[in-house]
Amino acid sequence: MSALTDRFGRVHNYLRISVTDRCNLRCLYCMPEEGMQFEPAENLLTYDQIAEVVRAGASLGISKLRITGGEPLVRPGLADLVKQLSAIPGINDISLTTNGILLADQAEALREAGVNRVNISLDTLDPARFKFIARRGDLQRVLKGIEAAAKVGFAPIKLNCVLLKGVNEDEIAAFLRMAYEQPLHVRFIEYMPIGHADDNWRNHYLPLTRVLEIAQENGLNVAQIDDVKGNGPSDDYRIEGGKGSFGLIHPISDHFCKRCNRLRLTADGHIHPCLYWVDELNVKPALGDPAKLLELFGRAMDLKPQNHEMAAKLANESLSHEPTSRRMSQIGG
Ligand code: SAM
Ligand code: SF4
Repeated sequence: MSALTDRFGRVHNYLRISVTDRCNLRCLYCMPEEGMQFEPAENLLTYDQIAEVVRAGASLGISKLRITGGEPLVRPGLADLVKQLSAIPGINDISLTTNGILLADQAEALREAGVNRVNISLDTLDPARFKFIARRGDLQRVLKGIEAAAKVGFAPIKLNCVLLKGVNEDEIAAFLRMAYEQPLHVRFIEYMPIGHADDNWRNHYLPLTRVLEIAQENGLNVAQIDDVKGNGPSDDYRIEGGKGSFGLIHPISDHFCKRCNRLRLTADGHIHPCLYWVDELNVKPALGDPAKLLELFGRAMDLKPQNHEMAAKLANESLSHEPTSRRMSQIGG
C-alpha cells in the first residue's frame, strides 16, 4: 500500500504547487479588482524549500507535479525551479497552469527545463469580455501564449474555461467549435465558492450539463473518452470528426472526490489537503528535518476529508466543517 493512502483508500501521487499568490490579472471569480493583499516575498517558500518538500513527497509516492499560483509566470526564474524539480528521483510529470499572458516569452525555457504539459486559462474569445472577466491584460497575449505553447511542443494543450452564468455561457458553442477545429482540449469548469462564497458565486454558478445540451443543439455528436493525458478529475469527450476534445469539471453538480489523488502546497508553505476546507499544515517548522516532513505528509492523509460540500453550500444547507477563507489564487487552484 502506498504511504500516501488516506482513510478512504485514496492513493495520492499528485502535488499542486502554488509558487506565488500574486497575479497580473484579477479574474472576477478569483480575486477582487482592487485591494488584494499579497504575501510579502519573504513569507514565500524559496525554490530550494519547495524542492525539499517535493523530495519528501516523492519518497512517499508523489510522482506528478503541477506548478500553479497566483500566476506562476510572474515569479522570477521559474524555469530554475522546474529544472530542480525535474531532477528529483520519482518525479516523472511536471505540468503548469497559467493565464498565458507571459507564456510566449517563457514557453521555450520552461519546456527545456522539464515542463511536459500546460493548461492555459481562457474564459472568453471576445477581447472586450476578456477585459470584463480578467479586468487586466489582454486576450491577444493569451492567444499568442497558446500559439507559442504549441510551437515549442507542449502536448496536450488544455484550455481552462470557467463558465459563468450570464457572462460567457453564450460562448460554449464557440469553445466547442474550437475543440472541433484545433488539436486542443477545452476544459469547462464549474465556478467554485472558494474563499468567498458570496452572491457573485450564487448569481453566476452554471451547472455544466448545459455544455452537453449545447453540443446536441449544435448537431455535434460527442462520445465519452478516457485517453486524455493528465491527472484531472474531468469527464472527457471527443467530438465526432473533430481534431480536439473537451472535458467537464463539475465539482458541484457531480463531485469527483472519490477519485481525488491530490495534495496542494500553498505559496506560503502549507500542505492543504482539500481545496474546500480550512485544514492545512505548516511545513516551515519541518524544513531541514526530513523525518518531520514525512510525518507532515502522513498527517495530511489523516486530515484529508471524504469530500467537499460545495453542493450543500449552494443549497444553503449547513456544512459539517469550516470552509477555507483562502482564495483560489492563494491555495493554487
Ligand atoms: N493564474 C493561473 C491561471 O489562471 O491559470 C493559475 C492559477 S488559477 C487559480 C488556476 C485555475 O483556477 C484557473 O484555470 C482558474 O480559471 C481557476 N479558478 C480560479 N478561481 C476559480 C473559481 N472560483 N472556480 C473555478 N475555477 C477557478
Ligand atoms: Fe490570476 Fe489565475 Fe486568479 Fe485569474 S484565475 S486572477 S489569472 S490567479
